[in-house]
Amino acid sequence: MSTVAFVNLAMHGHVNPTLPVVAELVRRGHSVSYHTAPAFAGSVEAAGASVRLYSGGDRPMPDPPIPLTMLGALARTTADVLPGLRSDLREIGPDLVVHGAACPWGAVAARELGVPAAALFTTFAFDRRTPSPTRASWDLLASAVARPAAALGYLRSRWGLRHLPPVDLANVREPLNLVFTSRAFQPRADAFDRSYRFVGASLGARPPDPEFASDRLRDPVLYASLGTVFDGGPRLLRAFATALAPLGGTVVVATGATDPAALGPLPGNVLARRFVPQPEVLARAALFVTHGGMNSVNEAMYAGVPMLVVPQGADQPLVARRVAELGAGLAIRTQDATEAAVRALARRLLGEPRFRAAAATLRVAQRAAGGHRRAADELEHHLRRGSADPCRLSSS
Ligand code: UDP
Repeated sequence: MSTVAFVNLAMHGHVNPTLPVVAELVRRGHSVSYHTAPAFAGSVEAAGASVRLYSGGDRPMPDPPIPLTMLGALARTTADVLPGLRSDLREIGPDLVVHGAACPWGAVAARELGVPAAALFTTFAFDRRTPSPTRASWDLLASAVARPAAALGYLRSRWGLRHLPPVDLANVREPLNLVFTSRAFQPRADAFDRSYRFVGASLGARPPDPEFASDRLRDPVLYASLGTVFDGGPRLLRAFATALAPLGGTVVVATGATDPAALGPLPGNVLARRFVPQPEVLARAALFVTHGGMNSVNEAMYAGVPMLVVPQGADQPLVARRVAELGAGLAIRTQDATEAAVRALARRLLGEPRFRAAAATLRVAQRAAGGHRRAADELEHHLRRGSADPCRLSSS
């Protein structure tokens, strides 16, 4: 049996798909440590890993959340977290480090210690034709010229950190790269070499939420959420609630950072909560209004639910475009998402069978991809190959 160290950003979208993989590895007899920030200690422990905490990995999104500031935040966090992580890993002696592709300190530590590594992609896999939002580009250069302090901060933070990729710290690949979506959803999947394995949505059983009475939901269930990172604010969330209320049995709105009370009085069939058990709600839903976070979209495809995507930032415009391109939903810009516009699009998504049919096709692809069990198989296979495969570190 092997010792595997997971190193990750402390964000729901990054941690959630890893937990079923951890639980599966533990079930197969491996010893797993998980290195992250305190916010996720409980859920990591519940998955069966031993938790190693570092501070600083759970910083809020930089302001403004643009590629330049995100790269700066990743370089800073790498510098802060690396000494503790390095000594934890030395003590544990893992056979394999599994790190988020956007978690460069995991990659650097593995490289420094000479331990084989695998990367986890919770967004698309990126290459020249599907370019990473944080790649070296003229836009990034222009942004660095416009914000010299941020650019200098980035350079200063990464000073002395050998083994960091030259620019794209949010897209670090390894000899094995697990992508948590299906080949059908990945644009131009055939362009990626065999180091990329598209394992689909990784959805084990999440701990039940006794506060959420799913037996009280009435069909059709319409669900809206902008995820856990971007705060859409009360006006947008209220527009979703009031737009969907006349079309739904129960409308569930996950408000995230926004206090549900800030939405004001809502129609009687709207259930507004900060956080809901999303896979459970999606299993009942007829429609999902989403920001297009990759996990949310994977989970919706897994459930075969058509989507109205209202992207807020990061990779979400790309995800929105792909959902629309494959016919599993429609997209609208935040500034256009008025109550009337959302209701009109929701009516189409509920009324035109082609959306549900396209979502059903993607559902099949997500399920066939293998999920957390396939991910565990791939990691075990990688472990068996061991250090035969030289650990190369690069960003695509
Ligand atoms: N999530 C949840 N309940 C909520 C909101 C979100 O369980 O009320 C989970 C969701 O299932 C997904 C993750 O949080 O796994 C959100 O990840 P995503 O990549 O979609 O968006 P992010 O929050 O990172 O923007």
